[in-house]
Amino acid sequence: MHIHIFWDSLSPSGLQMPVARSISSVLGVETSVSENHIRITGLDMTRKQVDAQALLDSIQAYKRRHEITDPILLVVHQDLFREGNRFVFGLARESVGAGVVSTARLSNEYYGMRGSDDDFIDRIVKEGAHEIGHLLGLPHCPDEKCVMFRPDTLDDMDRKKKTVCPTCRELLDQRIASSIDQC
Ligand SMILES: [Zn+2]
Ligand SMILES: [Zn+2]
Repeated sequence: MHIHIFWDSLSPSGLQMPVARSISSVLGVETSVSENHIRITGLDMTRKQVDAQALLDSIQAYKRRHEITDPILLVVHQDLFREGNRFVFGLARESVGAGVVSTARLSNEYYGMRGSDDDFIDRIVKEGAHEIGHLLGLPHCPDEKCVMFRPDTLDDMDRKKKTVCPTCRELLDQRIASSIDQC
C-alpha cells in the first residue's frame, strides 16, 4: 500500500514534504509526493469554487488511463464544493481510491488572522490524513480529537489531534494488513 500525493502547481509550495511525512506518521502508511498532472476540472464560475465530485471523476479517469491502483490524494488551492454543501474541506471516493483536499480554507489568512505555516501544515495534514483514511475504508468517528472526526468548521479542525483514536487505529491496521495480502 502506497499513497500518491499529487500536489497541484498552484497549491502552496514548500509544504509538500513536511505534509507527506506527517501524514505517513499519522496513518502509518507510505506516501510519496509528486507534481500534479491531472487537469483541474469542475470550475463553477458563479460560485468561484471547484466541484469536488468532478475532480474525483478526473482522478478516477487518470488512474484508469495510467493503470494506477494505489490511492491518489490530490491537493489543490481552489475552494471546493459538493452538491448540497456550501463547501467541503475535501472529499474521497473509496471505491476508486481517489481523494481531494483543498488548502483554501485551511490558512489563518482566510479567516482574517495572522498567517502561520505550522497551523497551515497541521490542518493540511489532518485533512489529508482524513481523506486518505476514507480511501483506506475508515468511516467518520464520533471522537472529536480523532483525525476521522468530520469537521464542519476551522475550530473543529483545530480541536482534532494529528492521531487516530484506538478504535480507528485497530480498523486501519486491519485494512493495511489486508491490502498487503491482496495480489
Ligand atoms: Zn470525512
Ligand atoms: Zn477515531
